[in-house]
Amino acid sequence: MVQRGSKCPPSGPLTADERALLFYYCLNHTVARCIGCSRSYYLSELVADLLSGRTHLCPQCQRDLTDNVRSHVYGCGILPAEVRQRAQTLRDVAQRLVKESRQLRDEADVLIRETEAAFEANRRALWQALKATTPST
Ligand SMILES: [Zn+2]
Ligand SMILES: [Zn+2]
Repeated sequence: MVQRGSKCPPSGPLTADERALLFYYCLNHTVARCIGCSRSYYLSELVADLLSGRTHLCPQCQRDLTDNVRSHVYGCGILPAEVRQRAQTLRDVAQRLVKESRQLRDEADVLIRETEAAFEANRRALWQALKATTPST
């Protein structure tokens, strides 16, 4: 078995939580920059390719901008500090969960369940923080 080094694997599509954060806070500014087209795009400008199931593509060159959008979520200055921090924690827990599930499989159900519980707790905390800061319009 070859273990990859410190580089993160491609992280896949945005989670429901990441998309929610974008919709709450990031509709009015650009969220991804395409280096191919050297311009930035609003969330609403990004396109999806239904055939391949990819989302958040550059509308001009179809480059996958998911990772750009994701790093925007965790670096966006509009997000209240508490929300950003909780989102980051949640992401760390989620990554740990994926890793541990892969490593342990059914040998260590308990550990996985504990991590899942931590994930849910963090997720609740994120949504509480998010609701607390949502501008009431
Ligand atoms: Zn933003
Ligand atoms: Zn492009």
